[in-house]
Amino acid sequence: MALERTFSIIKPDGVRRNLIGQVLAKIEGAGLKVTASRLAWLTRAEAEGFYGVHRERPFFNDLVNYMTSGPVLLSVLEGENAIARYREIMGATNPKNAAPGTIRAEFAESIEANTVHGSDGPDTAAFEISWFFRQTEIFGADKR
Ligand code: ATP
Ligand code: MG
Repeated sequence: MALERTFSIIKPDGVRRNLIGQVLAKIEGAGLKVTASRLAWLTRAEAEGFYGVHRERPFFNDLVNYMTSGPVLLSVLEGENAIARYREIMGATNPKNAAPGTIRAEFAESIEANTVHGSDGPDTAAFEISWFFRQTEIFGADKR
């Protein structure tokens, strides 16, 4: 297995309900390292660019409204198999289908306000990380 990086967002519902610590505890508990992190309030342009792959989906406009409704925690995570590992501990998009113990099963409010985002593959991870972080802001295994 390879050391990988993935991109995480604690969405507005998670930050609003004071869940940053509990979500990061699950992330760190799964052996993933936080190698960059900051709070941000996304602009419309940032959210639209970030979710560009969903532009044609019926929920796109609602999703952008939601993601710009309050501050979020942007993070870069690193670990063995980090992309799949983080998807696993996030749980299914719809919290009704999320496995017990996953972040979304425990915390998500709805299919839209589902507390976390995680990259779904190596290409999207690289794009999403570069959308929000410079290489010099990421303190991974290569720098420690
Ligand atoms: P994410 O990309 O945020 O990690 P995901 O990969 O599990 O989630 P996607 O299909 O990429 O799910 O959808 C992106 C986001 O759009 C979802 O996390 C959710 O917030 C929202 N979303 C997805 N499907 C719906 C829907 N049917 N109705 C409303 N919002 C939705
Ligand atoms: Mg997705």
